[in-house]
Amino acid sequence: MTVYLNGQFMPIEEARIPVLDRGFIFGDGVYEVIPVYSRRAFRLAEHLRRLQHSLDGIRLANPYNDGEWTNLINELIARNTSEDQYLYLHITRGVARRDHAFPKPPVTPTIFMMSSPLPAPPPELLQSGIACITAPDNRWLRCDIKSIALLPNVLLRQMAVDAGCAETILIRPESVTGGGFMTEGAASNIFVVKNGMLLAPPKDNLMLPGITYDVVLELAAANGIPHEVRKIAAREVFDADELLLTSSTKEILAITTLDGKPVGDGKPGAIFAKLHRLYQNFKRDVMRA
Ligand code: PMP
Repeated sequence: MTVYLNGQFMPIEEARIPVLDRGFIFGDGVYEVIPVYSRRAFRLAEHLRRLQHSLDGIRLANPYNDGEWTNLINELIARNTSEDQYLYLHITRGVARRDHAFPKPPVTPTIFMMSSPLPAPPPELLQSGIACITAPDNRWLRCDIKSIALLPNVLLRQMAVDAGCAETILIRPESVTGGGFMTEGAASNIFVVKNGMLLAPPKDNLMLPGITYDVVLELAAANGIPHEVRKIAAREVFDADELLLTSSTKEILAITTLDGKPVGDGKPGAIFAKLHRLYQNFKRDVMRA
């Protein structure tokens, strides 16, 4: 695997960073995951826009403009072997004596990218759907920043794995009403379907604005699927006809079991089938364009 580190391409075995890197010490950095289909980065402009939002959120200057990122990303894609790739990009606040406050300028950020083969979601998962659990969303209040400090997400996701499930759906407790509302998955966005209506939580500070989430809402709008973006109460998740999971690497999957109980009739539903087909067609059309 060829990676990019601070201006150079190299085999991953040769990539080294100093132990005082603030990414290692504090998790002081942000990242992106960009799917690559037929050697073309999918929705690159949108990923670079979200990267800028994350960098602004942690007050770190973007080391490259969009043209420079595009060239580096294309070069990394070309230097790796797969047609479809999972491109990971990571920027930290660089190397400095350990102190929580920012180092004195000029800060030299650490810039790292790697790319590995991106397998298509297994057909049996599309057939059966996936099992999920729910858990209280105990993360910070800036989940819109794609921070490399992922310990809460790591622990929440491991809860799913320990339960033999694929993902944990997060419920932000609401102290005023005693209820709660659904934000997203530990590493994905979640949609609810009820009576033919596709429901999506609003892109606010409590969830990551997913690139796949946007594609799904665009496809719903363009294809006459009734949809609404609004806060989703926890009870609506448990009462859903269908639940859908999206992410760049998993694309779109049906959730057919929640906390051990079937979702709807326990099979991937009609809205899933329609959106999945639309997503595949959209991907193909974008790659041909
Ligand atoms: N929410 C979280 C917490 C994530 O980590 C991810 C990406 N893995 C997503 C949502 C989905 O975002 P995208 O569609 O851009 O992959």
